[in-house]
Amino acid sequence: MPDETTTSPPTSAFDGHHAPSMEIIDTCVHCGFCLPVCPTYVLWNEEMDSPRGRIYLIKMASEGTATINPQWVGHFDACLGCMACMTACPSGVDYGKLIEATRAQIERNHERSAAEKLYRRFVFSTFTRPDRLRLLRLPLLAYQKSGLQTLLRSTGVLKLLPKKLQTMEALLPKLPASESIAPVTPAQGSQRRRVGLLLGCVQREFMPQINLATVRVLAAEGCEVVAPPEQPCCGALLVHAGEEQAAVALARRTIEVFERADVDAILTNAAGCGSNVKEYGHLLRDDPEYAGRAKKFAAKCQDVTELLAELEPRVRRNPLRMRVAYHDACHLQHAQGVRVQPRSLLAGIPGVELAEIPESPVCCGSAGIYNLVQPDAANALGDRKAQLIVPLNADIVATGNPGCLLQLQSALARSGRKTPVVHTIQVLDASLRGESIRSLLG
Ligand code: SF4
Ligand code: SF4
Repeated sequence: MPDETTTSPPTSAFDGHHAPSMEIIDTCVHCGFCLPVCPTYVLWNEEMDSPRGRIYLIKMASEGTATINPQWVGHFDACLGCMACMTACPSGVDYGKLIEATRAQIERNHERSAAEKLYRRFVFSTFTRPDRLRLLRLPLLAYQKSGLQTLLRSTGVLKLLPKKLQTMEALLPKLPASESIAPVTPAQGSQRRRVGLLLGCVQREFMPQINLATVRVLAAEGCEVVAPPEQPCCGALLVHAGEEQAAVALARRTIEVFERADVDAILTNAAGCGSNVKEYGHLLRDDPEYAGRAKKFAAKCQDVTELLAELEPRVRRNPLRMRVAYHDACHLQHAQGVRVQPRSLLAGIPGVELAEIPESPVCCGSAGIYNLVQPDAANALGDRKAQLIVPLNADIVATGNPGCLLQLQSALARSGRKTPVVHTIQVLDASLRGESIRSLLG
């Protein structure tokens, strides 16, 4: 007869595929140093929407004392994945690995509502596909050039749209003419490096001026730039949203493309893409064919500012007399540890006065697709950041991520300011070419 008083131990709510690591969970000593930099804790002051609270929720699910239910999932959907908690943590808790594994578990083991599934499918099947974004350009250009956008914005009728569509519309950049990047751009003068360039998806189609500026600066500084036109999305949005299998497939294709390019370094100018490709070794760790190749690939990845800071400047910097507020993108400062290089490149331009934005560790609310799926929290964080930028009286804001650029532009517009927001590389490009930054803004 079985002993009726004996109860079987609770089983984990996670499946066996890459469950969040207990070893990482147990590194957390619950000190709370991460709380003041966590954007959702800053907004709501709720323990379960802090890094410490989320780690505890993961522990409970691992031990079978919590289930993956909508309330539990809500705390992880609200996390921006900004990694500010990792920079702040004195115990070295690798929250990035925990949230990535947790999100993949959620997508496998939690049934989202039909509307949520449909919206997520739309976002992923559009924003990870440059070919589809290219098709969208024409109707969006017509919307902007016909004056319809100005009319709808001025009448306030857009407020009748669902919040997510309102946010998408507000984030839409002013579309410039479509420009493609040459597959190979030769170095000017003697060649110092042969570099590959990841073009990004939204950036490639909607903000080509950033890639053009990047190529010009690199070529001027003696780099041959290889930008394979067949490169796919790197999968950053998918990894950060728990869509592991789709992300793995894109990572394999990206590796193949850049292996053929045979370059010394692989450069990114979008912080989210950069942090993703640097982690390919982890993403493909189980893949016997790709694990080693992924590690080799990741070891070559750098943000464009990292490489430029390594190279002794060869081209004269022309003065740009302006006050520049530099915004740290989370996936650059926290995920890649790149804070000094963009600042030193900007400070190396004669006439540039750098202004520091207070609360720089706290996210602006962009965070990949966060502003598209959590518009209320994203707008609150954007507004908070705009309020910190406005008193600086900067002529422009510079940042290293297209998502932050759009988020800040939209938040500053809501605050009534038209301060231009540009990519760091555009400022450097304007200086090298002896142009005013305003001329680049159209
Ligand atoms: S990743 Fe960002 S939002 Fe998520 S817990 Fe860490 S600090 Fe908070
Ligand atoms: S700072 Fe690190 S150790 Fe302290 S509570 Fe946050 S995650 Fe845990």
